[in-house]
Amino acid sequence: MATEYMMKQYIYDIIILFGIIAVQGHQKLRVIDMTHTLSPSTVYWPGSPAYNFTQLFRGITQPYGFWYESNFFGTPEHGGTHLDAPAHFAQDGWHLHQIPMDKLAGPGIIINIKDKAANDSDYQVNVDDLMNWESKYGRIPNGSVVLMNSGWALHYPNKTLVFGSSTPNDPSSFHFPGFHENAANWLINERSVNVIGVDTPSTDYGQSKNFSTHQVLGKTNVPGLENVANLDMVPEDGSARVYVAALKLHDGSGGPARVFATVEEISNSSK
Ligand SMILES: [Zn+2]
Repeated sequence: MATEYMMKQYIYDIIILFGIIAVQGHQKLRVIDMTHTLSPSTVYWPGSPAYNFTQLFRGITQPYGFWYESNFFGTPEHGGTHLDAPAHFAQDGWHLHQIPMDKLAGPGIIINIKDKAANDSDYQVNVDDLMNWESKYGRIPNGSVVLMNSGWALHYPNKTLVFGSSTPNDPSSFHFPGFHENAANWLINERSVNVIGVDTPSTDYGQSKNFSTHQVLGKTNVPGLENVANLDMVPEDGSARVYVAALKLHDGSGGPARVFATVEEISNSSK
């Protein structure tokens, strides 16, 4: 009978609808903050002016009696978790305000070199490390944000440990890992990545004298990220999406960035 058929269809539709709601109800978006807090203990490259945070007003206003708080802050561009604009090392490179937003997001590819860095603080990520990642997880997608996890973020903000030197005001004494220029070139030319980043103070390793990786990034208009935090919390396999919310600073050669990742998770629990 037509009505019985329609009734059955109706019940099936309801079952499907509840099924969809149930699936959506179990989908969660996890957000991971990958940013060190900007504060008086922020780690800057030696020679930078001091961080300045000044209270302008903090208290009860008169005559209306409401709380009001406002501060001034001033910071060198290159300190803490921050983005290097291509203009940092290339005359014709993009400044911070010119970098298109679609170049500041992408699948997060985490290159884990923690064991190697623990044995050799001068370690440089090479093409073999990238090949190893691909043999585990597949081809690095175009437009990725490729980040070195050397375990260095745990040293932050201890300057002696971050710079790997008992004389943290002398760059010639620095020992920390970075990207070899060959690896940077390969990621840019063979995989068209959007961003290359590190959990150390420089995309070049500490002992670099000519900053060849910075030069590669500048010439190819690829932004670099430095002092990224919490990489252990981000899945290594490219399933997270990383966003680099860099300050839109006119003519900036770099600047503070709120870096975060989102991971879509399907939970089997009833909550
Ligand atoms: Zn920088």
